[in-house]
Amino acid sequence: MLIDTHAHLFFKNFESDLDKVIADAREAGVGKIVIPATDIASAKQLIGICERYEHTYGTVGIHPHDCKNWDEKMKKELAELAMHPKIIGIGEIGLDYFYDFTPKEIQKKAFIEQLNLALELDLPVVIHNRDSDADMLHIIRKYEKTTLRAQFHCFNANLEFAETVLALGHYISFTGNITFRKADELRSIVAAIPLNRIMLETDSPFMTPIPHRGQRNEPKYLTLVAQQLAETKGIGLPEIEKQTTENALIFFNLKEKGKLTFTYKLGDALYINVTNRCNADCVFCARKDQPVLHGYSLGMEKSAEPDAGVYINEIGDPTRYSEIVFCGYGEPTIRLDIIKEVGKYVKQNGGNTRLNTNGHGNIINKRDITPELQGVLDCVSISLNSHDRKQYAELMRLPESYYDAMLEFAGKAMAYIPEVVLSVVNYPGVDLEASEKVAHETGVQFRVRAYF
Ligand code: SF4
Ligand SMILES: [Zn+2]
Ligand SMILES: [Zn+2]
Repeated sequence: MLIDTHAHLFFKNFESDLDKVIADAREAGVGKIVIPATDIASAKQLIGICERYEHTYGTVGIHPHDCKNWDEKMKKELAELAMHPKIIGIGEIGLDYFYDFTPKEIQKKAFIEQLNLALELDLPVVIHNRDSDADMLHIIRKYEKTTLRAQFHCFNANLEFAETVLALGHYISFTGNITFRKADELRSIVAAIPLNRIMLETDSPFMTPIPHRGQRNEPKYLTLVAQQLAETKGIGLPEIEKQTTENALIFFNLKEKGKLTFTYKLGDALYINVTNRCNADCVFCARKDQPVLHGYSLGMEKSAEPDAGVYINEIGDPTRYSEIVFCGYGEPTIRLDIIKEVGKYVKQNGGNTRLNTNGHGNIINKRDITPELQGVLDCVSISLNSHDRKQYAELMRLPESYYDAMLEFAGKAMAYIPEVVLSVVNYPGVDLEASEKVAHETGVQFRVRAYF
């Protein structure tokens, strides 16, 4: 299997035959495709594509051409979009002094702030760099002591640049441009750099390899880039395929996919995958279809649910994280004992805890569990879902009485847990203002979460 790590499948010229483009790619052996955004609108579009096609993933970011209006609002929007389960990186971002569509100072500011966002979210970055080598290296060198992982996509700089970024631990990817007749210098760089840092990409619909130049590029032509790489390096195609795929899986953290994850880092927090079971069946829930987050696989059978010791082991020193969050694509209070045991461990060792719940813990456990959460949790975030009993019941596919039980849980929790929050997802049709009013009436805090 090959991985096309860069294909802009949201472009207009894919609109009419995307099904075929993706099927043809699979047929040609391109098993996964990463779609990088260039602005907010394309980020939203590609999320739609990733939801439709199983082996497609996306990255969100603002391209140097499109960052003229870069501001805090855009950054916040990106951070929200990055929480989508199929978003696995920040990109494409960078500098482009060839076209110079955006003033250089703005390009740099947007680039740096997006690098910082990637670090906050613990996501790799996809970098676009054209005729901006000096400034690019100047900025990237500043991240030497951080966990930044970067892909220099559509590589087109010199060998010295390549060696510098490789020494900093980053990756380089090549497109159809390595097949071009005039690309001898680029091919000499391909030959000189180690295969364990190279990824493949098409940059569709651009950079169409020989012999299809002049036509629209698409992921199936990745095989031609792989063949050129094999030829230039004098290595067999199977090894090229194996190593470049491995590199992409590692870089985008897709290796964890398929492997069950018990704890996972998002930003500064550590999330605990408590269970995949739930008493509800929300219409918007990814629990059954795609329990995947940033490439982490969160779906688990009851028999695979680990005991508290496994979680405690993975947490280690809880002060390394801003908080430890009991979460997962399921209802954590189904495993109340785990929350209590792990929560006590975290609290005894100086950490902070939060529970994300649907608020049905008292029904599930057939008793008032809120006193048992004292000293275990610093915060409980309860999904309000709707201000309206009827809508709530429809969204969660449960009887309306669960709405009252959830609010009662929130009210009781206030006596034992320092911070109680009611949250809603901005799902179409949910009245945010009315929901906020319910939270105020219950006497708890209110938060809006992004819907995907
Ligand atoms: S309560 Fe949460 S885990 Fe359960 S079905 Fe609803 S969204 Fe999914
Ligand atoms: Zn680019
Ligand atoms: Zn691109």
